[in-house]
Amino acid sequence: MKYRDEYRTPDAARGYADTIARITTRPWTLMEVCGGQTHAIVRFGIDQLLPETISLIHGPGCPVCVTPIAYIDKALEIAGLPGVILCTFGDMLRVPGTHSDLSAARARGADIRVVYSPLEALTVARENPGDEVVFFAVGFETTAPANAMAVYQAERAGLENFSVLVSQVLVPPAIRALLDRPGNQVQGFLAAGHVCTITGYEAYEPIAREHGVPIVVTGFEPLDILEGVYRCVRQLEKGESCVENQYSRAVRRPGNAMAQHVMQAVFQMVPRQWRGMGDIPASGLGVSLAYRSFDAEARFGTVNGEAETQGECLSGAVLRGEIRPDQCPAFGTRCTPERPLGVTMVSEEGACAAYYRYRRPAGG
Ligand code: SF4
Repeated sequence: MKYRDEYRTPDAARGYADTIARITTRPWTLMEVCGGQTHAIVRFGIDQLLPETISLIHGPGCPVCVTPIAYIDKALEIAGLPGVILCTFGDMLRVPGTHSDLSAARARGADIRVVYSPLEALTVARENPGDEVVFFAVGFETTAPANAMAVYQAERAGLENFSVLVSQVLVPPAIRALLDRPGNQVQGFLAAGHVCTITGYEAYEPIAREHGVPIVVTGFEPLDILEGVYRCVRQLEKGESCVENQYSRAVRRPGNAMAQHVMQAVFQMVPRQWRGMGDIPASGLGVSLAYRSFDAEARFGTVNGEAETQGECLSGAVLRGEIRPDQCPAFGTRCTPERPLGVTMVSEEGACAAYYRYRRPAGG
């Protein structure tokens, strides 16, 4: 706990806030690209500690939230087949598909099992040789190496009843897509430290250069985030735009070579639809040709992209940073974690869940 407490000192936090206020000469809008950072910002009131001139907006940093509806529908379709066991992380169970979710499908009798790692899904496959075991592999670059390793090990073990339904997404193309959106307000980014422990941050350098935005690789503790904001504002005030690494205790510029190696062997870059953000070229990972026999889409049919339905939920706008959760009319009243209307309230890492947990509206 001591180690963590070092990054939560109130005096140091106020010191950062004062310094940021002192160097700020005009309003700036920054986006954090990680649901964990969003939770820390709201939980510790970091946005309220900052001067009013600094606006923090929350980006598409929740991997569960950005998983497109078409993949939930495909997972439901596969789970409904006889002789199939679908393995998934628990936070995917209540994510809404077009007509249902995995939790409801399980209640109706589908064999859907919650696992805590993809390797656990491999064990399920070994223990159930008569069934097809499908692991629903979602997430950013942080989960991709372990998911790739499961496929690699399945191949080495000759497990023929194991496959992965892959909806892995990549952060840098999403940052570019946000910057290219008409009316973009974001002037600087706090990049997700744990993603960069895997990938490093070379991929962010051309984005900072070409779009003229500072990008600061940032950790998750309050002082990490405040230092990330400070470094971003310092660059903006000087008219600079480069990548800085605030999270140097965990991140190196080239990242983790072993993790990248297994990812690159098992996966390949593909276009991907993001919930709330539409199609983004080369923004996802799919199973590479060498491992195609472990691709659930090769076994059970490809995912058909479907138009997103809007309805009352404004999660798309929340994921694009266009509104804060508490600006949604349903927040905390018609939409709560117990009765969620959308994925950003369902997911533990979702921005709406963070606001509900730490900043309820009066009477909410
Ligand atoms: S508060 Fe609920 S309805 Fe509103 S955007 Fe968030 S998840 Fe959707």
